[in-house]
Amino acid sequence: MAAQETVDHKYVYDFAEGNKDLKDLLGGKGANLAEMTNLGLPVPPGFTITTEACKAYLATGQEPDGLAGQIEAHLESLERGMGRKLGDPDDPLLVSVRSGAKFSMPGMMETVLNVGLNDRSVVGLSAQAGGNDRFAWDSYRRLIQMFGKTVCEVPGEEFEHAIDDAKRAKGTDNDLDLDANDLRGLVDAFKKIFAKHTGREFPQEPREQLDLAIRAVFDSWNAERAVVYRRQERIPADLGTAVNVVAMVFGNLGPDSGTGVAFTRDPASGAQGIYGDYLANAQGEDVVAGIRNTVPLQELERIDKKSYDELLDYMARLEGHYKDLCDIEFTIERGKLWMLQTRVGKRTAAAAFVIAGQLVDEGLIDLNEALHRVNGAQLAQLMFPRFKLDHDFEPVAKGIGASPGAAVGKVVFTSARAVELAGEGEPVILVRRETNPDDLNGMIAAKGILTSRGGKTSHAAVVARGMGKTCVSGADELEVNIPAKKFTVAGQTVNEGDVVSIDGTTGKVYLGEVPVMPSEVVQYFEGTLDPEQTDDALVRAVHRIMMHADTTRRLRVRTNADTGPDAARARRFGAEGIGLCRTEHMFLGDRRELVERLILAGTDAEREDALAALLPLQREDFIAIFQEMDGLPVTVRLIDPPLHEFLPPLEQLAVNVAVAQERGEDVAKEEALLAAVRRMHEENPMLGLRGVRLGLVIPGLFAMQVRAIAEAAVTVVRDGGTACPEIMVPLVGAVQELETVRAEAEKIIAEVVGNSGVEVLIGTMIEVPRAALTAGQIAEAAQFFSFGTNDLTQMGWGFSRDDVEGAFFWRYLELGIFGISPFESIDREGVGRLVRIAAEEGRAARPELKLGVCGEHGGDPDSVHFFHEVGLDYVSCSPFRVPVARLEAGRASVTTTGSDSR
Ligand code: ADP
Ligand code: MG
Ligand code: MG
Repeated sequence: MAAQETVDHKYVYDFAEGNKDLKDLLGGKGANLAEMTNLGLPVPPGFTITTEACKAYLATGQEPDGLAGQIEAHLESLERGMGRKLGDPDDPLLVSVRSGAKFSMPGMMETVLNVGLNDRSVVGLSAQAGGNDRFAWDSYRRLIQMFGKTVCEVPGEEFEHAIDDAKRAKGTDNDLDLDANDLRGLVDAFKKIFAKHTGREFPQEPREQLDLAIRAVFDSWNAERAVVYRRQERIPADLGTAVNVVAMVFGNLGPDSGTGVAFTRDPASGAQGIYGDYLANAQGEDVVAGIRNTVPLQELERIDKKSYDELLDYMARLEGHYKDLCDIEFTIERGKLWMLQTRVGKRTAAAAFVIAGQLVDEGLIDLNEALHRVNGAQLAQLMFPRFKLDHDFEPVAKGIGASPGAAVGKVVFTSARAVELAGEGEPVILVRRETNPDDLNGMIAAKGILTSRGGKTSHAAVVARGMGKTCVSGADELEVNIPAKKFTVAGQTVNEGDVVSIDGTTGKVYLGEVPVMPSEVVQYFEGTLDPEQTDDALVRAVHRIMMHADTTRRLRVRTNADTGPDAARARRFGAEGIGLCRTEHMFLGDRRELVERLILAGTDAEREDALAALLPLQREDFIAIFQEMDGLPVTVRLIDPPLHEFLPPLEQLAVNVAVAQERGEDVAKEEALLAAVRRMHEENPMLGLRGVRLGLVIPGLFAMQVRAIAEAAVTVVRDGGTACPEIMVPLVGAVQELETVRAEAEKIIAEVVGNSGVEVLIGTMIEVPRAALTAGQIAEAAQFFSFGTNDLTQMGWGFSRDDVEGAFFWRYLELGIFGISPFESIDREGVGRLVRIAAEEGRAARPELKLGVCGEHGGDPDSVHFFHEVGLDYVSCSPFRVPVARLEAGRASVTTTGSDSR
């Protein structure tokens, strides 16, 4: 039955039958070869075997019915077109067998060149090339080498060693000095290596070579490195690869032949011009393999002006056609130019913006399209501070750039020391062999983290990325000695307290202080670099695209800010209000003492006393923020964390009390504190007495905060400003909780506000799953919802972030259970579903309900798209993420209005 259906299925497409939009079926390489063919560019003829054939093969372990026959038919037509036959001893057709998936996976899959050569046709090939024996034997040895390596898993070094032996025997280190005889000898040596490793002779039958090579390309889809790469790049695992069979053209026919790569613009900076490399008398893989030094593409003008001009013409045509930077492979065979590949080229973050801007100027794309072609991850990259490397700073080591940024600080080797020094205001770099969960506090305290072991998914890397902290991992030149508090590198010793600089983007480690500067893009956002005046192409492009994002987006972007200065910076970065102002930091520092009094209060009077002392301090905090955000909404979250977090840790207190007792000091107060800490100790503080629960248990606490907010607003308004406070109740799970808080709050507000014209909204966080599931009820009592997706993720998955990120996320990422940490990007199916339900049911109950999100997902590109789709009104994120969110919110609107680029 299934066989019946597949008999007629079309598995093979001639290049003339495809086009660039068929990437799913023909892969990127095949679709673009077809496109170039149809544009009339000189592409050697060939055909593409579809990804569907690959998928059918991978599912069953067998080529699907009908495939062999279709290959036969296309091969015959290729032979007719070329006037040569595969395996013809006198005048052989040779082909390349090239993998090509929908998304380019550089170096991940396989290609075999010169298929069709054997002991007899090698002679014919030589005759075809005017008696060029060297060329023919060189091509043959390449076939055995590539076929052996990629089709039969013969270790590549063995072939390379044999080449080295041949060169040594000849007394040269240039492969061009090997003559026909040497290469003939090399073919014999290669055949022996092949036989030794495979237990069979090198296949002489061309069609067998072809079929085995096709199969090997199919199989390469599931090779481990391809699987790992896909996981990293988040490419779906079930796409399969297409296989391209292309008539060979030869760049190794002599000095008038060669091969090269070209970019239509500089993929690093985006600058216009001719970029690329050329290598004379070589086949394509030599350029990448770095066997000989290539020359800059410009020199081709001197070597072969005709081909050069022709190439430039095709480059211009391709750019005009694809309306984007193109990346091209070509080969020149005796003065005749052949185009072997093109694709929309990869580029750096800076080039992405610059090129998008240029293409708009050139009228090739519109601003929507430009917006679509850049992304928030790229913008974030451009916002990291960078080292000013203008004079001689040489790195002493290079590890893995595990979490970007530039960090400078004094070296410390333990978490405790990191906390200590950071507490004194010193910037520190925590250096460890590898980190573990015990290092968490030190990691939080440090400016950067440097480890000598571990890769991109190590504990240090995963946690640092989660915290947005600079990290270089796996710098294995470092000899780290924790007990001795030092490390050695490149013959130098670095002791605790010495200064190092680490670059989490490049993985480079420097001794001493490398000056750090804000990137140009940040200077622009800060308002210190005028986009209209600068000749910095990047800043101009970023400005232009940001302006467009702002006019297209529907989502508003607010910021999470707890202080006036944070609020001010966020506003410069384009924040349209505060979505989360946490009040807990207002209980720290010299205010701790008041909090202790509050907690220890034995009577109502003592408690009220403490609260009364806190009230004016809080009011000042809010005044500062309302002033900075004049005219914009400010969501203030009532106190959220459990109160014992404001007390010293149990062990420390116990020790202090014991020591003081020993000395015979008066410890009444410490003892009372210790008793309180013991009493308030919780097994699972995340799920304990916090948020609204605290407000309902401690009389007067929320009331004090509400009063401070209302009074601050009235003060600002009286001074001629505009304050728009929104009071947010955390951790609500049931509407009754909110109703109770709200009844009290409304009374206070009415009393404070009077006829000042101040309006105060009251809403809630949706961060407990039960709240999401009863959102319809909760909306009756809430004027807005703000999704606290950090807690919603914790409680939705049932894990505590602080514990799990360090403990097992690396393993989950490795196993592919997560493609990305659900704290980094919202889990659409699970946690996202809770958001969707709450948004829908909340709005059904109260159509004017304002919906937003606070929590780190608000600045994550993928999550922003999700919140756009779900119909939220705004996202709120940290100040530095505000531009990223603006950009992505713009992109989300453009995407859903149907513009599609590639
Ligand atoms: P990759 O995807 O790794 O670039 P390709 O399939 O593009 O692999 O091929 C590897 C190299 O061989 C490239 O440089 C390409 O230009 C060259 N090549 C592929 N097919 C042919 C052909 N038919 N004639 C000449 N060179 C070819
Ligand atoms: Mg290629
Ligand atoms: Mg929360």
